Amino acid sequence: MGKVYLIGAGPGDPELLTLKAARLLASANVVLHDSLVSREVLERIPSGAEIVDVGKRCGKKLLTQDEINALLVSYAASYDVVVRLKGGDPSIFGRAGEELQALREAHVEYEVVPGVTAALGAAAAAGISLTDRRLASQVLLSTFSRGVDANAMDWGCLTPATTLVLYMPGPDYAEVSRRLVEAGLPNDLPCVIVSGASGSQQQVRWSSVGLLSVEEKLPAPALMIVGRVASQQIREIGDAFWHGERNERGTRTVSVS
Ligand code: SAH
Repeated sequence: MGKVYLIGAGPGDPELLTLKAARLLASANVVLHDSLVSREVLERIPSGAEIVDVGKRCGKKLLTQDEINALLVSYAASYDVVVRLKGGDPSIFGRAGEELQALREAHVEYEVVPGVTAALGAAAAAGISLTDRRLASQVLLSTFSRGVDANAMDWGCLTPATTLVLYMPGPDYAEVSRRLVEAGLPNDLPCVIVSGASGSQQQVRWSSVGLLSVEEKLPAPALMIVGRVASQQIREIGDAFWHGERNERGTRTVSVS
């Protein structure tokens, strides 16, 4: 019986792999990876290793989660080092829980190697601090889907001092904007969209909850950081916007270009 390593590949830049991830990748016999894992990271897989793309592409699933779980178990029976490589960190929107459960049930030895999650890559790209002590006291990594669990997000815990990182916002920014406003966030709350964080195609777009609806779409993968910290001028916004005069929540427009 071999061992399965659930490894976080980070947001794209291969230099953001941990030393442990790089070492294990170099000794892998087989690597099962998502479509999120960057080409530069995949290039580090040794030529003798088998590579299996189990990712989703254009919304079309290549393999079901059950099939991936079964593959991990069967590869562990014939290989020493089985690497399950996931974008970012395996435990953040990475379905690590289901895979770990399958491995435990099959009594397969495993180890999780954390990676740099996209929220952190995006904050670095934008040059902001998610917990800037002047403006934020907590970070919420969240998402919503327009599928069956459209109401899965618990917006109740948002406070003005929350930095919300929205993974998988989808291409419909107007819908995202609408839902953020519905959740009680003001139109002029800053928001930054980061696409391809840490990669060669990285893009950073400064916007706001209200302006999001007219924002041009950025290529996937992209996420949004919403909150007082998500501004190029956090100091000015922090003073003028949050402590200045406001008649009604969400009615004033502040330019955060
Ligand atoms: N496990 C991953 C997240 C998987 S969910 C992690 O920890 O980062 C996939 C979503 O992550 C994408 O839809 C996008 O919102 C975000 N994402 C992943 N890589 C990204 C990147 N390089 N730049 C911006 N967003 C990214």
